[in-house]
Amino acid sequence: MTTIRVYHNLIDAHLAKVVLEQHEILAFIFDEHIVAINPLYAQTVGGLKLMVHAQDAERADKLLAQNEQSPYKGIDNKTLICPRCESEHIEANFHPLKDWKSFWQTIKDFFTLSFQTDKRRAFTCRVCDLEFSKYEADLLN
Ligand SMILES: [Zn+2]
Repeated sequence: MTTIRVYHNLIDAHLAKVVLEQHEILAFIFDEHIVAINPLYAQTVGGLKLMVHAQDAERADKLLAQNEQSPYKGIDNKTLICPRCESEHIEANFHPLKDWKSFWQTIKDFFTLSFQTDKRRAFTCRVCDLEFSKYEADLLN
């Protein structure tokens, strides 16, 4: 088995797994259950490992790379573009825990059961590296 991607949330890991399964590649997500118990454990176990059989690794990597290159569409089916350079090469992820403020906010959200994946959504432009929120992108559109 070969790890072809590492994810920090279950949704992205499963979306990638579905892409591979649509192309009849058997894929497994390692450390899925420990992260399902508590999303903060993703950091501890080094993320969710998407693994495939070694003979499928090259094809799986190409399929995922192709999928990652396609424009990001929101629920409204509008293509998200970068607020700075207007590129469509956007990567969706979660705000990393960069500082103590975001760390304590995450702990607070967890204990008050208000951990919302939506407000932690972050987007990164693959062209100019700008990190922005959906709100900032909507202001432009
Ligand atoms: Zn940009």
